[in-house]
Amino acid sequence: MAGEGHLAAYLDLYRSGKLKERIEAAKSLLQSCHLCPRHCGINRLEGKLGQCRTPAEAVVSSYGPHFGEEAPLVGRRGSGTIFFTNCNLRCLFCQNYSISQLGQGEKVSKEELAGMMLSLQNQGCHNINLVSPTHVVPQILEALEVAVGSGLHLPLVYNSGGYDLVQTLNILDGVVDIYMPDMKYSDERIARELSGIENYPSVNRAAVKEMHRQVGNLTLDEEGIAQRGLLVRHLVLPNNLAGTEGVVNFIGEEISPSTYVNIMDQYHPCYKAYDMPGLARRISAAEFLEAAELAHRAGLTRLDGAHTMAVKH
Ligand code: SF4
Repeated sequence: MAGEGHLAAYLDLYRSGKLKERIEAAKSLLQSCHLCPRHCGINRLEGKLGQCRTPAEAVVSSYGPHFGEEAPLVGRRGSGTIFFTNCNLRCLFCQNYSISQLGQGEKVSKEELAGMMLSLQNQGCHNINLVSPTHVVPQILEALEVAVGSGLHLPLVYNSGGYDLVQTLNILDGVVDIYMPDMKYSDERIARELSGIENYPSVNRAAVKEMHRQVGNLTLDEEGIAQRGLLVRHLVLPNNLAGTEGVVNFIGEEISPSTYVNIMDQYHPCYKAYDMPGLARRISAAEFLEAAELAHRAGLTRLDGAHTMAVKH
């Protein structure tokens, strides 16, 4: 199977019949939705909409091989990305806001979602990269069972905004091989103001700890392709709104200095960011270098490629 991708953890659960139990556990959360830290408590199975505005079916905006992700996910043949519509965050600066906030996308059945996964595998992608999966975990699990029955074997990447509930992540233990959460903020007041969420730092940190407990540090195959583990993203915001020092210190002290971390420099104003004085510009080179330097000082040894170079040279 070399070159065809790592055999995913979920295959064992499928063969033992335990994947069905996970599906039932996840679906039961939709009746009075407590899938994510919003705890809306509405019955999505009856079509009620909570803060993520997503009904009983998943909604997908697009899918396809993607080459803009981190190198260990992209490899030579791309990361098999599925963009889920809607989100449990409300980021004023979201760069995918037409998908995450304005609802662009189509409802899909579990068979259709399974077909997307299989199509990405057939196109040679190295993984199935689930973008904004938090509010559609049950729907993903149902589709996964169908897809595995037709030969899916690629690892799943859980690519979230990091506002995830430990109880829901527990359902994914042994299902997801690669967790790729954001760590967006260190300050809960700023998180509330910019993303409309409560308690982001504590919820996010508990989630990242649980993800790391499940899959450990990122491991790569001989070709540098991600097999299993944790990969953290941190987007540097202007005026230190992301609280980089708190994030990188947490990772260094409470996760592992060997955590694969992407300190991202691509912030640009989008959506409602133009109305926010602190967010209405790109970050400066000095702001980025300071963020990368903080990560080095926190003892982090696996910073995503270019950024390490930026500080060393
Ligand atoms: S998944 Fe959606 S409906 Fe459920 S608690 Fe989260 S935001 Fe609310």
